[in-house]
Amino acid sequence: MSHKNNLGTKYIHAGAHPDPSTGAIMTPIYQTSTYVQSAPGVHKGYEYARSQNPTRFALEEAFAVIENGKFGLAFASGVAATDAVMRLLVPGDEVIAAHDMYGGTFRLFSKVYEKMNIKFHYVDTSNAENVAGAITPKTKLIWVETPTNPLMNITDIAAVAAIGKKHNCIVCVDNTFASPYLQNPLDDGATIVMHSATKYLGGHSDVIQGCLVMNDQDLRDQLYFIQKSTGAVPGPQDCFLVLRGIKTLHVRMQRHCENGEKVAAYLRQHPKVEKVYWCGFPDHPNHDIAKKQMRGFGGMMSFTLKDDSIAAATKVLSSTKIFSLAESLGGVESLINHPASMTHASIPREQRIANGLADGLIRLSVGIEDAEDIIADLAQAIG
Ligand SMILES: *Cc1c(COP(=O)(O)O)cnc(C)c1O
Repeated sequence: MSHKNNLGTKYIHAGAHPDPSTGAIMTPIYQTSTYVQSAPGVHKGYEYARSQNPTRFALEEAFAVIENGKFGLAFASGVAATDAVMRLLVPGDEVIAAHDMYGGTFRLFSKVYEKMNIKFHYVDTSNAENVAGAITPKTKLIWVETPTNPLMNITDIAAVAAIGKKHNCIVCVDNTFASPYLQNPLDDGATIVMHSATKYLGGHSDVIQGCLVMNDQDLRDQLYFIQKSTGAVPGPQDCFLVLRGIKTLHVRMQRHCENGEKVAAYLRQHPKVEKVYWCGFPDHPNHDIAKKQMRGFGGMMSFTLKDDSIAAATKVLSSTKIFSLAESLGGVESLINHPASMTHASIPREQRIANGLADGLIRLSVGIEDAEDIIADLAQAIG
């Protein structure tokens, strides 16, 4: 695993090359749909911007660098990146997926791909034996999210990658919550890393984007073909914003981690708080695995109140002043969210409750404001 202290240099220079025509230090926004050819078929490697765009290519190189992979591909959103992976499959194939993953991933799997005769087995991937037990000769893909959204469960990436390798399945890890600063799944043997770049990579809540990173050339060629054939590519302006975001990822993540630790400790000792879900606590059920595969524990956490009524949770959700009540996460500003009615409303209630996602659960994306202000805001909202 690479050292914490060289990540800054890596992020600042990832994909950055002075523009060959002017020397501009920042990658220009190539806002163009097409490229002039000097004779039919004679061009500079750029024909049409769905297939090739220099701003997007610079970002795709950066994605590969920051995830220690060979190839990166950018998509119009995180779910478009997930969708591209799903298009590697054919009817009859089977997928093993985490039972408490991001609601939009579950919606894509259950509402779009199930009717195309892809079969899904949802298991608690935090125990790798559950993954091994769900493998059949038809399993083609294992979909892992760690830490999970919003319960912060941890899956042992190396253990699941070994199972995937043994059975010749693709193991794709949604690394959105950790960000490449905290975790690099390819180093642990995963086949593909997926991000919603909308979150920590962009980092400023001003762009929707997704990415995939992989090492295998053949897989890259298949996914590039899907990217250009289905067309869910991001525009150059959005690519520029994410390139810019990546340059400060390490500084932002350091502060997210510091603030996260302080907020988790504060909530945990609060007399009105029942339970805090944060993988940095030594008594978190998978803390040892988190410590093994992550460089820190981040600013994402969830908690429940002793008064488990929706009314009590609603009071907190409506009373914060620094935390804004909104979906999404990973921006510089703190956000508060009610998974049951917001991000995870697409998961049927029965299943949510069975997975441990209570009606009163509150999720925090702790931002990089001053920790004492963040804590004071929670103090007044919880009362
Ligand atoms: C937001 C999110 C996604 C989906 O990404 P979009 O950019 O919103 O399409 C996928 N996985 C996780 C963990 C997310 O938080």
